Amino acid sequence: MLDILSLTILIHFTGGVENPFIFYFIFHTILTGMLLSKKESYFQAGIVSLLTIGLFMLEYLGIAPHHPVREFLSADLYKNPNYVFVVSFVFASTIFIATFFTVSVSERLRLKEKELKEANLKLLEKDRLKDEYVKMVSHDLKSPLASIQSLLEVLLGGFAGPVVDEKIKEILQRIYKKIEFLHHYTKDLLDLSRIRAEKHLNIQRFNIKDVIDTAVDIAMPKMGEKEIDLIVEIQDNLPAIEADKEQITYVFLNLIANAFKYTPSGGKVQVTVSQKNDTITAEVRDTGIGIPHEDMPRIFEEFFRAGNVAKTTKGTGLGLSLAKYVIERHDGKIMVESESGKGARFRFTLPIKRINISHI
Ligand code: ADP
Repeated sequence: MLDILSLTILIHFTGGVENPFIFYFIFHTILTGMLLSKKESYFQAGIVSLLTIGLFMLEYLGIAPHHPVREFLSADLYKNPNYVFVVSFVFASTIFIATFFTVSVSERLRLKEKELKEANLKLLEKDRLKDEYVKMVSHDLKSPLASIQSLLEVLLGGFAGPVVDEKIKEILQRIYKKIEFLHHYTKDLLDLSRIRAEKHLNIQRFNIKDVIDTAVDIAMPKMGEKEIDLIVEIQDNLPAIEADKEQITYVFLNLIANAFKYTPSGGKVQVTVSQKNDTITAEVRDTGIGIPHEDMPRIFEEFFRAGNVAKTTKGTGLGLSLAKYVIERHDGKIMVESESGKGARFRFTLPIKRINISHI
């Protein structure tokens, strides 16, 4: 309103009805139509028309003085009734038509936005229900699978009596392998739904070295009979970091376990951690099968597995997507460099201190 009033005064001192800049009011009209409600926009259009036409009338009737800008505009048109009528009519109709169009378009956009918001809320709710469902199912499956696995171990170990028939032994071993994969799969699904469902990060101060030790201890037995050199290099005097310890352990475990899994016997896996300013950079590098060029853009997608992975190398395609989720939730970045047959190099950054506490 203040703006409209100032513009009216300015027009009054620069020729009134003779000043073509009166049409600059259209910008106010469009902005109001976009930002305010329908009622407020038409109210504003009415005020603008009333103020300007009122001004023209006052000048025409000689009640208000006329300030011509002689060197720029032809004067005395303000006394011509036809001119004043035509300009007033064109001006007011322009303002109302502009209001009508802007309000209609804005209302349609607002409606679309509302529909999109509602659809988005419904999707979020469905996503939450799906996560709940996955969590419930994987949780319910985990215990019976673990029991079947231990019972098979009892049988295969001969603790329930010797398994003499080689054919039966072989079948039992195959069942064991399948159950082992299913157990692994449900564990990954459970990790996925559990970490995604956590609304807050459980921030603690801890040493990266402890986390790497834990991850290596869990990953090592998974290497089986393979012979792989493991080198861990942690920069001296690395400060303790503030992060969700369990989730960061999960990331290291996944990257190290993958490096072991996708590197053939005789290869090398190297874990390095260094600090630069307020950030630490961790790297897990291997000399394994690498990732084909065409698969690189999708490597962090849920359930994606690269084309060069042998069918016998079991996996779910969930670990990397979850690692990316965890690192980004900690305001870090994760990236990969690789070439098929030439190993892979996963690198991620983490802030040492939590500055952005919005996610905590
Ligand atoms: P999983 O290993 O269970 O399949 P991940 O999400 O951990 O699932 O990894 C997704 C895919 O990325 C793997 O299937 C594999 O194709 C590729 N990948 C991950 N890490 C490596 C690695 N160190 N070397 C080669 N390929 C890898």
